[in-house]
Amino acid sequence: MRRLIRRIKRLSITALVIIIGIMGIKTIAFTSRQVNIASVEALPVEDGVADRLAGAIQFPTLSTSTTVDTAALLGFGAFLQQQFPMVDSLLERRVINRLSYVYKWPGLNPKLPSILLMAHQDVVPVEESAGSEWAFPPFSGEIAEGFIWGRGALDDKSSLLAIIEAVERLLKEGYAPQRTIYLAFGHDDEVGGLNGAQQIAAYFKREGIQFEYVLDEGTMVLEKPLAGLNQPLAMIGIAEKGYVTLSVSVQLEEAGHSSMPPSQTAIGILSQALARLQDNPFPAHINGATDLFFDYVGPEMTPLFKVLFANRWLTGGLIKQQLSSDPAANAIIRTTSAPTIISGGIKENVLPATATARVNFRILPGDNIESVLAYVRKVIQDQRVSVEVWKKDEAMNPSSVSGVNTFGFEAIQRTTQEIFPEAIVAPALMIGATDSRHYTEVAANIYRFMPVQLTHNDLSRYHGINECISLDNYKRMIRFYRQLILNSCK
Ligand SMILES: [Zn+2]
Repeated sequence: MRRLIRRIKRLSITALVIIIGIMGIKTIAFTSRQVNIASVEALPVEDGVADRLAGAIQFPTLSTSTTVDTAALLGFGAFLQQQFPMVDSLLERRVINRLSYVYKWPGLNPKLPSILLMAHQDVVPVEESAGSEWAFPPFSGEIAEGFIWGRGALDDKSSLLAIIEAVERLLKEGYAPQRTIYLAFGHDDEVGGLNGAQQIAAYFKREGIQFEYVLDEGTMVLEKPLAGLNQPLAMIGIAEKGYVTLSVSVQLEEAGHSSMPPSQTAIGILSQALARLQDNPFPAHINGATDLFFDYVGPEMTPLFKVLFANRWLTGGLIKQQLSSDPAANAIIRTTSAPTIISGGIKENVLPATATARVNFRILPGDNIESVLAYVRKVIQDQRVSVEVWKKDEAMNPSSVSGVNTFGFEAIQRTTQEIFPEAIVAPALMIGATDSRHYTEVAANIYRFMPVQLTHNDLSRYHGINECISLDNYKRMIRFYRQLILNSCK
């Protein structure tokens, strides 16, 4: 017996030594993916750029669930023509579906595939009750305290104006690109992009254009991004999650009377179904874009975290557990579900025969609409509850994952490291939806990145109160797009 115990002890020590050995080797092999390049000199950008962004914000180009503001959009389109005379006269401008625009800047070498820079013109509304909480009225475009304030200052008029400022500037410098550069500005991103981006993509398809890469709005440079990483983190979205809303409903033949209720009412059955869904989250996966994210971030982390992320074969469970406890981190490792609307009943003493909920899902690449539907039905496991896709035309499977060993990713990575020399660059999964999802047939490589450096607190300004961008950040955005065009034409 004693001999057996000794043997087991010896064996477990050997196993431990082997595991530590493998961990050591994996950690040593976990080397940096950052590109070693010199930062470029910060090109002076005149303060006048702030006035033009402020002017853009003053057009309330609102998208609501039912309409877009045609007059504001037309005004904004004319404003762009008037404010950027060189772009207007030297680039070919095409109007798509009356309110969206495509600009073409022909390249000197027609054999090189084109690139596309995108942004959207529309903005989300400001809740009336929140209006008074803004430091400056949301459509004033106030320039104060070193910031430009208003709806669209981040999402997404800053990108749109910075792209066009960069092109105007290059035109003034007499620059002629080697490859053709397209700009596309949709007008209904915030309501799905069906009349804007989708129609623009259809136009490109008809023209037989296949882009080398597409860059749309997306993830950004974040200060103090996560524990174990001391530098700002530039996240380049290489994939985005899918989107579907399910209608979960109960329809009883007979509701009964509230003075003699059955053991379960329609509302009770529905509540139980929703509770089951909440108690059984989708399985977590570290795959695709998120796996690559850790490949890029891990080597730059403090030693303990580096060992942890270099050995995901062993620590994967622990990492998933940690990530699951934070809503933002949880969203990059699993399909999430969120009940957003619930209805049932008309009077306090009448049992309703029906009760309905809408549950919104953000689908992780690897899952799809069908697998979400199957999972939800399996978890609820109740014949009385029906589960159907709600608003089929708004449902969208996750995007494919764009490559990191591509011309496009490398050009964006290089440019980011030149313009944000302090930052670590990593590919990432984008949780929200962008217009770029309509472009899969005209580009294999689609990236989602907003070249702006923010803190965690700033993130709530997207679609929120006191949306603003600092003048320094905005000038850097212009430098970024200019440099990206130069790097894409080398
Ligand atoms: Zn946006």
